[in-house]
Amino acid sequence: MPDTIFDKILRGEIPSHKLYEDDQVLAFLDIAPLSFGHALLIPKERAQTLDQLSDESSAALGRVLPRLCRALKKLTGVSAFNVLENNESLAHQAVPHVHFHIIPKPDEASGLGVRWLAGKLDHARGAELAAQVVKELAG
Ligand code: 5GP
Repeated sequence: MPDTIFDKILRGEIPSHKLYEDDQVLAFLDIAPLSFGHALLIPKERAQTLDQLSDESSAALGRVLPRLCRALKKLTGVSAFNVLENNESLAHQAVPHVHFHIIPKPDEASGLGVRWLAGKLDHARGAELAAQVVKELAG
């Protein structure tokens, strides 16, 4: 996997406003925030998409994410927020290293805007997929 801008941040080669670091993860402020306090949480493990990540890194992210959200809520004074994680460029991933965005939503105009084109579930296809996923995850 080629180097990304986040590898440079992890190595301290380019500066960032660091929020948290341990052996497995790093959190820092996004350089182009959608709102004040917009933060990124990344694993130190190099993986492009979430499905490629080890259980160990996944657990570390899961442990830190709610704690980071709590700190940002408290210190920005903004209670509403979105957590976003994009995978591949079609899904708006610009930096090919797993990262969770934590984005305070202070008002309608700032923070994350979502275009949510809700469809209607095809229950027959849904039941088939659910059975397949259950089997896949049990295997
Ligand atoms: P993506 O679209 O891949 O989910 O989001 C990548 C995020 O990384 C963007 O929100 C972008 O502003 C942020 N970003 C890109 N380069 C840098 C950088 O050099 N420093 C920081 N702090 N954030 C960056």
